[in-house]
Amino acid sequence: MRITNCHTHTFTAAHIPQHYPHWALLPFKRAPGLLRALALLARVLGQEGAAAALRRLHRFQQEAGQPRQADIFARLIAQYPHGSRFVVLPMQMAGMGQGAPHVDLVAQHDELAALARAWPGLVIPFATCDPRLPGAAAEVRRCVNDLGFRGLKLYPRLGFAPDHPVLMREIYPLLDARGLAVVSHCSRGGVTGNVSRAEADCVSHPMAFAPVLRAFPHLQVNLAHMGGQSDWQAYIRDGIDPYHCETSGGNFLMALRRMIEGGEYPNLWTDLSYTLFQSEAFLPFLRLFLDHPKMRARVLFGSDFYMTRQEALSERAVAVRLRAGLGEDLFRQIAETNPEHWLGER
Ligand SMILES: [Zn+2]
Repeated sequence: MRITNCHTHTFTAAHIPQHYPHWALLPFKRAPGLLRALALLARVLGQEGAAAALRRLHRFQQEAGQPRQADIFARLIAQYPHGSRFVVLPMQMAGMGQGAPHVDLVAQHDELAALARAWPGLVIPFATCDPRLPGAAAEVRRCVNDLGFRGLKLYPRLGFAPDHPVLMREIYPLLDARGLAVVSHCSRGGVTGNVSRAEADCVSHPMAFAPVLRAFPHLQVNLAHMGGQSDWQAYIRDGIDPYHCETSGGNFLMALRRMIEGGEYPNLWTDLSYTLFQSEAFLPFLRLFLDHPKMRARVLFGSDFYMTRQEALSERAVAVRLRAGLGEDLFRQIAETNPEHWLGER
């Protein structure tokens, strides 16, 4: 089986604004050893929970603190069988009002292009953009035309709508004409830009993409994270009133399933990244959701490496748990067959 992990990251601390997520964390970013020292202290004091959390944060910082994207990628491929492929998604955080990152987006894209040349066929590079920033469309065009990138990653939580005019008029038509795919962050978690949580949730909701899906019916759009962990938790723990459908529309997971299963948006996909790597309790539900033929045909295997380094289990441990839990046929469908369709290879 040739696995394609449709959602991974190799961007480094140099691509993140200095003051993100908070200026008070700057000492820890400068001296990551501090976190390990704190973890040790917490353990001595008997705070095992805090110690474990600090150790995980330290592991995450170590990953982001790697000097080159190639260093992070080397750790990623070690978690998967020979021949596995990885869609690598960059990140632009310059439009958040938290200062400029050390390394700009053009350099981040160039480094990713070099990584893709070093691992031909195994790195599938995507471009990214914040449509509010000047030159956004030109940079995506450069990535697609000159660097051979295979798609676009968007992050509306930073504070823009998926149907932003620059995207609708310049960027989606370009991707559409080339048959290239889109991934968009779709959960209440992750990075929030210079907007309120409510506004960020509003532009992240699966239905916020409906105008795009309708205007570009051939554009294959992956709304990542399958609704996100908090909406899975709400569905499982709090439940959803089955007699008042309108109340369930606010739940990202329910909205996404309705959009895919209803058949109105055949170009809508989703991936398992982070969410299914976060809680073991989610796996049996995924197994059930995949009984629906439309759902089975539109779910992509993805992990969100190295964000997952904040969790207790390794990438390999969770990927194998998924594979064993779904069975070989179902896993092949989401990890091999569906990615090839989504990427326009079949
Ligand atoms: Zn991600």
